[in-house]
Amino acid sequence: MILDFKEIPQANKATGEQDKFELFAREFLAYMGYNIVEDPSRGADGGKDLVVEELLTQKDGSLQSIKWLVSCKHYAHSGKSISDTDELNVGDRVKQHQCDGFMGFYSTLPSSGFSQRLHSVCNATIYDSEKIERFIITTNNNPQALNLFVRFFPISWKKYLTLTNEQVQVNDTKHLFDTKQVNDNKPLFDAKIKCDICGKDLFEAPRKSIYVLVVGEKDIIIDVKYLTKGECDIVSSQQIRKNGNVDYWGEFSDLLSPNTWMIELNRFIKDVNQGKYTENAFKKMLNLFMQTFAYVARQPSAQEQARFNTLKEFGLL
Ligand SMILES: [Zn+2]
Repeated sequence: MILDFKEIPQANKATGEQDKFELFAREFLAYMGYNIVEDPSRGADGGKDLVVEELLTQKDGSLQSIKWLVSCKHYAHSGKSISDTDELNVGDRVKQHQCDGFMGFYSTLPSSGFSQRLHSVCNATIYDSEKIERFIITTNNNPQALNLFVRFFPISWKKYLTLTNEQVQVNDTKHLFDTKQVNDNKPLFDAKIKCDICGKDLFEAPRKSIYVLVVGEKDIIIDVKYLTKGECDIVSSQQIRKNGNVDYWGEFSDLLSPNTWMIELNRFIKDVNQGKYTENAFKKMLNLFMQTFAYVARQPSAQEQARFNTLKEFGLL
């Protein structure tokens, strides 16, 4: 399990956090597309219940409303599974709330047999810890899922980031360019991206580094410069302009963020397709993508997602 449900405090009146798991259930089910009909209220067995609505499209196109009585049980701290004695009078409770079915929302797993017996009593569905985790973790880049993850499981989130930040080793990519070099021990690429002026590794300070497309006559990209910000990029810029060329620069750190990496790759491929790159510039740009791939083969972090949203909002992509 990646999500540690123990991060959500146990029901305890004294701490004022007694509703945290129910609150999580409410937010999670809203994210899953259920309408919240009734907020959590204390149920007959002392457990908290809420009522949610699911709209099902019929074959004739009309909508059928299904009301679920949701029972929340937060046993993660004891690790206890949910058994029959934890859910009493299920059928009666469903009727009492004028619902169509019963939904168990649990931070552990149901005991074997419990869910089978449950289905014999009424229409039922269960969200247990594993199912909930699947809907939070395997939903690629969904901001709502990320929000739930970060908000309710901050420690698990940090661990998950370390896991997913583990880098892929990209090596032996030279054959992509020149088959004659496959048996040559000399790599086509340097494992580092070094500043073309001072030789400093751009990975050491990504936010203080840029890459610059040098555009010559007929809009052809004749070179790609790797540069540290400040002196080196000023010197380089002067050279480029002196030669009558134009420079377009990009933040190196944006190539280390999954979303912006994809956008830049897309732009690169389009430009290549239109014949805008010279051989030299093509190799240098492709090298950037190859070397940075290891950093982006993962989920974006919350901060990266936020920056991406801002760039999108302001039309800067
Ligand atoms: Zn430099």
